[in-house]
Amino acid sequence: MTFNVTIIGSNSAVPAHGRHPSAQVVNVHDYLFLVDCGEGTQMRFHEHQVKWNRIKQIFISHLHGDHYFGLVGLISTYHLLQRNKPLDIYGPEGLEAIIRLQLEAGHTTLCYPLQFHVIDTTVSKVIFEDKGVEVMTIPLHHRIPCAGFLFREKFEGRKVDKEKLAALQLPLHLIPPIKHGEDITDPHTGRIIPNKELTVPHPPARSYAYCSDTAYSETVIECVKGVDLVYHDCTFDKASEARAAATFHGTTEQAARVADAAGASQLLIGHFSARFENLDTLLEEARAIFPATELATEGSVFDVGVKAPHTAYN
Ligand SMILES: [Zn+2]
Ligand SMILES: [Zn+2]
Repeated sequence: MTFNVTIIGSNSAVPAHGRHPSAQVVNVHDYLFLVDCGEGTQMRFHEHQVKWNRIKQIFISHLHGDHYFGLVGLISTYHLLQRNKPLDIYGPEGLEAIIRLQLEAGHTTLCYPLQFHVIDTTVSKVIFEDKGVEVMTIPLHHRIPCAGFLFREKFEGRKVDKEKLAALQLPLHLIPPIKHGEDITDPHTGRIIPNKELTVPHPPARSYAYCSDTAYSETVIECVKGVDLVYHDCTFDKASEARAAATFHGTTEQAARVADAAGASQLLIGHFSARFENLDTLLEEARAIFPATELATEGSVFDVGVKAPHTAYN
């Protein structure tokens, strides 16, 4: 089942070197979630073939402009395109007032329900859940209240063993009751087949953690323990550790140490400072500590639980 992350924007503060402010689309079982919405995010959707009318939930980490200045534009475009399904936005206190003020200034009454959910950036707790995914906050250590987001897939019941069904030549209309956990009667022999013979357990749940922006934090390590794919603030190289500390951001070395200490399978680094036109050194420094590191550059798609990136969105 699909579980991947498409990088829409990877730069910090100002757009530079063809890179844009923060935004990512997380696809969990073909449900799309937007994480942060830097300026111009909606224009990037077209470039990366994101089916953005399918986004129903948006998660905003904090109120520095490079993480939400694209939000009112996107909300407005959905209105102009006559969206009718609700849009739910999860973010820190203050976000709703900012967005409503902009809409009211233009006398805009949205044609769809826009619902805000204030998140507590100081605790790790579940803020959204449906049958396929659970989203938790990750308290981050930044200049203003800031939270990361942990996406963990969920499964219900057991998985239908399609090979077993084919071997027994069972008709397809029996799949729904089998999925619901029922025993079924073999139409060829009349034998009752226990559900456990026709199903297998789901694979272990995969997880993705988005940690931007943050200084190095032991709390973050605790929150992302055992996560498959971790994205971590890497605004600076290791030589700029003092600058990183002063601005509450991360370095290559710190991002790699977090992934290593958490036992993550793979690390994505991003939120790059405009001072780095070439990112090779950043990648090398992180890989020296945590080899399974990739650059979260625009257009890259990372499958959660799989180590090779690819560029086509699916
Ligand atoms: Zn930022
Ligand atoms: Zn910030």
